[in-house]
Amino acid sequence: MKITRETAEFALINRYFKKLTKSRDDVVLGIGDDAALLKVPDGMTLAVSMDTLVSGIHFFEDVTPEYLGHKALAVNLSDLAAMGAAPAWVTLSLTLPEVNETWVYDFCRGFAGLAKQYDVQLIGGDTTKGPLSISVQVHGFVPQHLAMRRDAARVGDDIYVTGTLGDAALALKHLKDNQLKSPLSLPLIDRLERPQPRVEAGVALRHLAHSAIDLSDGLLADLGHILSLSGVGASLALEKIPLSSEVASVVDLHRDWSLTVSGGDDYELCVTLPEAGRAEVAEISCRLGLAITRIGKIEKQPGLRCRESNGNIWSPPHLGFDHFSS
Ligand code: ADP
Ligand code: MG
Repeated sequence: MKITRETAEFALINRYFKKLTKSRDDVVLGIGDDAALLKVPDGMTLAVSMDTLVSGIHFFEDVTPEYLGHKALAVNLSDLAAMGAAPAWVTLSLTLPEVNETWVYDFCRGFAGLAKQYDVQLIGGDTTKGPLSISVQVHGFVPQHLAMRRDAARVGDDIYVTGTLGDAALALKHLKDNQLKSPLSLPLIDRLERPQPRVEAGVALRHLAHSAIDLSDGLLADLGHILSLSGVGASLALEKIPLSSEVASVVDLHRDWSLTVSGGDDYELCVTLPEAGRAEVAEISCRLGLAITRIGKIEKQPGLRCRESNGNIWSPPHLGFDHFSS
């Protein structure tokens, strides 16, 4: 720690972070002391995950701070969702180049909005000066035997994904290339900048599921982690992968599935579960108003086979070749 502490740091903590989120009963002591004191409910296991967002690498420097606050929490909640854990607490480490209160205010607004949606309490953190970077750690609860682990997929499992895939990648492509031939729809930009973590789906599916992962690096890469850790392979029916109309038109135009299977940042869930769960998945999907689509099957043969409806096996032009050979 530095010898002279900038009072601005304490002012920020008191003004913005201390009262940012609602108190929970399981927090004995929150922000203000050297450590928070917390109670894990009986029968629950604590799930912990952390993600860092660095300016210029994970987000554009001029991104709306409100969206950034939302996304910093959303990507973490998505990891908890993929374990089937219900979120409870969060810590926030902010490195800021300068104290810009308008920026902090807007950031906090985005962060607090999502925290409120899931009753997550900010219980501590750190505030330092330096190149803009945000680290968030989330804590949630899951009964140990229901946690959806990457190493637990079984041969014969159906493979499902929530929502639609490729939207965030398409939005990013537009923003990067800056060649807006047709303007992007707002919902598509939202998919990149304000992803909705599938918390309810994770909790609802955990008693049915064998394994799950959230899609941050693209379906092939992320499902690949499940396959290698579980010692199994899989077949995907490419045409069954749910797409927004915008992504569907790009895929149709080029007959290239890359956007949907390799595009990152969707923060949807990929879940494997036995066939016996089909009817219940349909009910959950209906209840949550969220598409949960069956797109493939876990198989004994190692590797990942992407099939088109005519039976052809399609090979992705890039990404993780050795993983995906048949
Ligand atoms: P210490 O010097 O003991 O690490 P700090 O001065 O860094 O304590 O922090 C004081 C209190 O404010 C601690 O409870 C800490 O968790 C909290 N805090 C600091 N920065 C943040 C932040 N960005 N968000 C939430 N809580 C924070
Ligand atoms: Mg500190």
